[in-house]
Amino acid sequence: MTSLRTGKVTFLLLATLFVLSGCDDAIDIDAHRRGTADKYMIAAANPLAADAGRSILANGGSAVDAAIATEMVLTLVEPQSSGIGGGAFLVHHDAADGVVETYDGREAAPASAHPGMFLQDDGTPMPWPKAALGGRAVGIPGVMRMLAMAHADHGVLPWADLFQPAIRLAKEGFAVSPRLAGLLAADTEMPEIPSTREYFYPDGKPLKAGDTLRNPALARVLKTVAEHGAAAFYAGDISAGIAETVATTTANPAKITAEDFASYMAKKRDPVCVTYRVFRVCGMGPPSSGGILIGQILGVLNHFDLPSMTPFSAEAVHLIVEASRLAFADRGMYVADSDFIPVPVAGLLDPRYLASRAKLISPGSRMQQALPGRAGRTAWHFRAADGAEKGLSTTHFSIRDRYGNVVSITASIERAFGSKHMSQGFLLNNELTDFSFRPTSNGHPVANAAAPGKRPRSTMSPTIVFDKAGKPVLAIGSPGGSRIAGYTLKVILAVLDWNMHVADAISAPNIVSRGGPIDIEAGTAAESLKPALEAMGHDVRLREMTSGLHGIHFTPEGLTGGADPRREGIVLGE
Ligand code: GLU
Repeated sequence: MTSLRTGKVTFLLLATLFVLSGCDDAIDIDAHRRGTADKYMIAAANPLAADAGRSILANGGSAVDAAIATEMVLTLVEPQSSGIGGGAFLVHHDAADGVVETYDGREAAPASAHPGMFLQDDGTPMPWPKAALGGRAVGIPGVMRMLAMAHADHGVLPWADLFQPAIRLAKEGFAVSPRLAGLLAADTEMPEIPSTREYFYPDGKPLKAGDTLRNPALARVLKTVAEHGAAAFYAGDISAGIAETVATTTANPAKITAEDFASYMAKKRDPVCVTYRVFRVCGMGPPSSGGILIGQILGVLNHFDLPSMTPFSAEAVHLIVEASRLAFADRGMYVADSDFIPVPVAGLLDPRYLASRAKLISPGSRMQQALPGRAGRTAWHFRAADGAEKGLSTTHFSIRDRYGNVVSITASIERAFGSKHMSQGFLLNNELTDFSFRPTSNGHPVANAAAPGKRPRSTMSPTIVFDKAGKPVLAIGSPGGSRIAGYTLKVILAVLDWNMHVADAISAPNIVSRGGPIDIEAGTAAESLKPALEAMGHDVRLREMTSGLHGIHFTPEGLTGGADPRREGIVLGE
């Protein structure tokens, strides 16, 4: 524990010294963990990426335009978290007509995938780290098609312009961040894999914080897509290069065909919206479980008076945890890719159903077992296990443009560095490990089993909250595997119910239950809740929990933003 704490302090000190390079004014991260603005704002996980988004917003770009520029720079500067080799979900609010749209750019399994793809010869599941490495878990990347679809709907600036900040930085080089350097130094697999060794471990040693890194291969890919559109990513050399990397690795070689790339589609999904007190909370539906989890938890909490309780008191945490346990029980039973499995979304979010779920909770004592309920009319019976969660990857950013449009987007390559294999300067995801490794359980089919073309269940929870009049109140989301919903919920409740500043809500201790024990963020004041929660019957563990919450609160005085001090993000705006 002591050494852990020491590590954290060292990291924070380095982060403070890390300044933005590659633009005229250096930016001190700590000074930009929170900010205010009137016209436009971006909160994102890396200063260079946030600055790329800011420059697009300053030039009259839309929130979607800025999201594209930001995600391209994140591919370069925060390669461990997300990129064009991965997937994303985007929630959009259009200020002109008030419409909320959600875009699904989740990776899809190739035609060669099958329900038992993560089972070993003896029928037992592969150890998770073994399955995550190499070709087998690589899904068809969805980021590029999703961003192109959102740009066709909501872009203002030309597509090609949005790639220029990333192309310039990739050519000229950027300063390796302390967080990237730390993760590279800790990794034992990538120094053995030719594509990642060459890029991240020049001369056999991991890149250090502050080293200048150039990526001409990525610059070429981005130039091609800038000039020829997203389709160029899914055909020709770029997709062929991905297929070759996946096929020729010695770690879990796999087959992705040209047809797999050609047939990949981004999809517009129905937003998942619930009423919480006087607010309307909208998020991502299947294949993410994020919107349903948050919606169910809030729907249950409607039956308790959280605003009257002390913020993060044992009394309030108990109710949040019990509501979370019930929601996770339903998630395992019902939620997967709705193009393959009938997911009873309306039934799961029906206020009458959630009222019946709320009755299962007793203030002050833990319910023995949180079981799935009978939601909707579905005749299916599923039982799915949670996937492993690494929590060091994935990225969330929130944007508001000068026209009032809002984007809340979470992007991922799954675990840190994804499959740990690179193609043409970008990392490939290992998102298919988000499928349940066991296709059946006690003879019942598992909802989230793998299948050709299917998208693995996610917990990513990009969210926008609205007031009664339909005006945006909060844009928020986070990385963190299946803890994402809990992290995001913390900020929603702290801002809406406890009137906290969004930056304070973000830095408040993380307290999450995913159905099992309660995880409390180690080294924080929340550790003191342990005895009271244990007295109610809860099993409490202290854990490191690296959320990456980046949010914007729309207040009557203007825009207020917050960036998670657990990562390297900042807030910029005007
Ligand atoms: N793959 C995870 C999901 O889609 C995100 C991984 C992470 O946040 O670490 O839910």
